[in-house]
Amino acid sequence: MLSLRPNCECCDRDLPPDSREAMICTFECTFCADCAEAKLSGICPNCSGELVCRPVRPAAMLKKYPASTERVLKPQGCASEKAA
Ligand SMILES: [Zn+2]
Ligand SMILES: [Zn+2]
Repeated sequence: MLSLRPNCECCDRDLPPDSREAMICTFECTFCADCAEAKLSGICPNCSGELVCRPVRPAAMLKKYPASTERVLKPQGCASEKAA
């Protein structure tokens, strides 16, 4: 089951479980669509995996299987310059 993390690892923007802006990799590293496109070119900076749209969990399922509330933030992996 997806943990549905509550924020973008780059900019800490809130990404609620019904957000269509959330992008994840296969390890559920989670980013907003803006960071995924503009900063990361669709590639996860942690695992080099592909970032895809996170599926929205229906509200009824969220009651039974709530989203994660644990915020993950790794801004160092999200530099807009490729220099690092
Ligand atoms: Zn972001
Ligand atoms: Zn990843």
